Amino acid sequence: MAELRRVVLASGNPGKVRELAALLEGLVAEVRPQSFYYVPEADETGTTFVENAIIKARNAAAHTRLAAIADDSGLEIPALGGDPGVRSARWAGNAADDAANNARLRDELLDLTADQRLARYRCVLVFMRHADDPAPVIAEGSWEGRLVETPAGDGGFGYDPHFFVPALHCTAAQLEASTKNRLSHRGQALAQLRKRLEALCPGA
Ligand code: IMP
Repeated sequence: MAELRRVVLASGNPGKVRELAALLEGLVAEVRPQSFYYVPEADETGTTFVENAIIKARNAAAHTRLAAIADDSGLEIPALGGDPGVRSARWAGNAADDAANNARLRDELLDLTADQRLARYRCVLVFMRHADDPAPVIAEGSWEGRLVETPAGDGGFGYDPHFFVPALHCTAAQLEASTKNRLSHRGQALAQLRKRLEALCPGA
């Protein structure tokens, strides 16, 4: 498959770019972040993770004329109708940082019973051969946890200090990075995407 000789990653986050580039090793000859090509950020106007990932991949593919991969992820709290969902990065406002978003989370938790504190992280990854690809390859992962009021741990990012993983008796922020990457929504979506891309280009 000629498209896989070069792929642009539609993310400005260096951590994600490193993770994605490692995932694509052996499958793609050249992987570059979209910043390498001066691709402007896309407006994430979708109401679902899939829509936003497609918007970002299409934007990167359109500006570079290369195949593109994008991700979108966030926290879903079923008791809050799925909030913050696609607004996870800006739950406390458009300029919000992790501290502000976590402060809002603690406020919201005050009104929730123990059962209502169940939550999941979701991640969607999209591969598009070109900007008009009518059949993007879509991979998904989710990770279940329970939200706790008292933050614990200083690893990870985002809502991790409040995201308690019952099976491991600790929060996502208390896990080794390698453990989190293996278990997390993003790790699962990455593994699924790799499998789907391998099926598309056997022998790569
Ligand atoms: P994205 O970069 O548009 O995918 O937005 C992701 C947002 O969802 C982040 O800013 C975090 O608030 C949240 N999020 C996604 N994945 C994680 C995770 O693994 N840990 C903590 N927060 C996450």
